[in-house]
Parts: sequence; structure tokens; C-alpha cells
Amino acid sequence: MYYIHAMSTDISQSANLEPLTAKPQLVDPFARAISYLRVSVTDRCDLRCVYCMAEDMTFLPKSEVLSLEELDRLCSAFVDLGVRKLRLSGGEPLVRKNIMWLVRRLGRHLDTGALDELTLTSNGTQLARYAQELVDAGVRRINISLDTLDPAKFTAITRWGNLDQVLDGIAAARAAGLAVKINAVALRGVNDDEFDRMISWCGETGFDLTFIEVMPMGEIGEQRLDQYMPLSMVRAEISKNWTLTDSDHTTGGPARYFDIAETGQRLGFITPLTHNFCESCNRVRLTCTGTLFMCLGQDDATDLRAPLRASEEDGLLIDAIHEAIGRKPKGHDFVIDRRHNAPAVGRHMSVTGG
Ligand code: SAM
Ligand code: SF4
Repeated sequence: MYYIHAMSTDISQSANLEPLTAKPQLVDPFARAISYLRVSVTDRCDLRCVYCMAEDMTFLPKSEVLSLEELDRLCSAFVDLGVRKLRLSGGEPLVRKNIMWLVRRLGRHLDTGALDELTLTSNGTQLARYAQELVDAGVRRINISLDTLDPAKFTAITRWGNLDQVLDGIAAARAAGLAVKINAVALRGVNDDEFDRMISWCGETGFDLTFIEVMPMGEIGEQRLDQYMPLSMVRAEISKNWTLTDSDHTTGGPARYFDIAETGQRLGFITPLTHNFCESCNRVRLTCTGTLFMCLGQDDATDLRAPLRASEEDGLLIDAIHEAIGRKPKGHDFVIDRRHNAPAVGRHMSVTGG
């Protein structure tokens, strides 16, 4: 688990070194290996999507948020424990000050081979500025959230966003060579007339597309029952105009993929409500305050900030991570219907980054 070069910052010297011993795997009580860490690097965002945040959000005081150096140490401890994939999310990860320092720093684990993938989920507003730097740091793929191609609707969904800014960001990502996947939350009465258009656009631009069911997380001052649209309905609508065949593509995540014959692109469905995907869960989620959530849909969590700050050595931290993984629950039980219109968990999606 330890590398000879663990403290080295010179990637060129450390690139070919192998671990001294085989890495122990993080395995939960249901025999699922934990190989994927998602990190919300900030709870702040430059947008306020109606299904994600209330308009008047109170954000964390900066004093509670881990420094970038602390986030690097935490992520690196997980990498040492066998995590192979890191996704930075938020809030909006690219609004965090100096975020590229962290991306470059984590990129060293790609160079050593300890990490298979370093990636981000972003709303795209800052990508025109950062796309090339992300590629230079080793990022190869990015998920961009975009629920509509209609400028007025985009502004309504995000409460004040500008679609052109995001489309410019997406174009910059494409020009820099990033593989782009578009994530769209299916919202009844909002973007349910745009599925065909989004499939065509993704086909023309060469992007995969994934639809997501809205999840009952955090008070948002909107009625989720009004927003919620089961993806079984979305799929039925889409199948009227497109030929979908089962794809064996998998990212080890919750999406179920189909190939679209007419465009040659993939279409994913993430269905936390209509089809529970927990049995193959390989991930845990870290907040920007160092709280580890073992399940997106449960409240149980472990504070990793205290053991992180208690010692410069990682022993306490690693013990706390093992203890937390030992408590990973079997799954979530999200429900949205007339009797269950309150959030399943109190925190917003932006706390754990989706
Ligand atoms: N700001 C970035 C973005 O929008 O991509 C990263 C964070 S955002 C919380 C991550 C993903 O969660 C986005 O694709 C967003 O659409 C999705 N999301 C947020 N709230 C959600 C909810 N209540 N149900 C389903 N998806 C949600
Ligand atoms: Fe911000 Fe992403 Fe949440 Fe929208 S979905 S408010 S862009 S964190």
C-alpha cells in the first residue's frame, strides 16, 4: 500500500515505481469492493437548479471546508487503499478557488498507475477557461449536466444560468479532446418535450447521453412530485422514434446503457427510484468538510476530518475509513409518491456531489 515515492512531488522520477505490497481492497459487509470515490470539493455553485438547490441556500462557512491540501491527502489515502477512480463534483467543482492545483496534484496518481481515472462532473459554465488545463492534468472524460437546449428553459431551470456560456464550455471541452457525457435530469412538464432533440444533438456532437430520475434530496422549495418523471415513461417515449438495443457497456455505476441505432451513440438511464441499483454499488462519497457518506440515499456518515487533522500520519484516518466501509448499508430506499413527498435525506445533492 505504500509507494517508495509516496512523498515525492516529482512525477517524472516516480512514474515507473510499483507498490511495495499488494494494495488491500476496501470491501464492505456485502462483499462489494469500494473502488470509486466521489468528492464534493465545494458546496457552492454559480447556478441554482430547481431540483438541486433552494434559491436562498446557506452555504458552509469557509472555515469548515477542507483545504485543497487536506482534500489531496484524503483522496490519496483512498487511492492507497485501492480506490481506482476519483470524481470531483460539488456544488460546482470548477468554482472552487485554485481547483486546478488539486486536479494537477491528484493527476500524479494517474502517472504512477495507482489511479485508472480522474474525472469531474460539472455544469460546464467554467469549462471554456479550464478544459485544456484539465486535459493537461490527465483528465480524459467529463460529465456535463445539461437538462435542456432551450435558452429560456435553461435560465428557468438553473434560476439564472446562460445556456450559451455552457455551450461554449462544452465546445471547449470537445476541442480539448475531452470525451463528454451529457447528464440530463428528466423533469415532467419541463424538458419532457426535448428528449428527441437532445438525442439528435448528442448524436451530431458525438456525446453519450444519460437521463436521471429526480431524487428526493434536500428541501428545495418545489414540489418533487410535480418534477418527478419515471424513466420507464421516458424510455417508452424515446422508443417511439429511436431504435434502442441493450448495450453491454458498463461503467461499474448505476446507469443502464442502450445503443441508439440511428446515432451510433449510447443512451444511459439512471433509475434510483424505479430500479434500485445498489447491489453493484462500488462507491462512497466525501463532502468538502471531510464527511464520508457510505450511501447516497442514507444519512449515516463518518467524520474523516478529525482523524485527518489529529495526526500527520495516516494511521488514524485509515482506521476510520475501514470502520466506515464496514458500515456501508445495503442500499437506499428512495420513494416519491403522494404519501412520500418529503426528502428521503435532509442534505442536498450538492453536499455529496451526486
Ligand atoms: N454542479 C455540477 C453539475 O451540475 O454537474 C456537479 C454537482 S451536481 C449536484 C451533480 C449531478 O447531480 C448533476 O447532474 C445534477 O443534475 C444532479 N442532481 C442534482 N440534484 C438532483 C436530484 N435531486 N435528483 C437527481 N439528480 C440531481
Ligand atoms: Fe449547481 Fe450542479 Fe446543483 Fe445545478 S445541479 S445547482 S449546477 S450543483
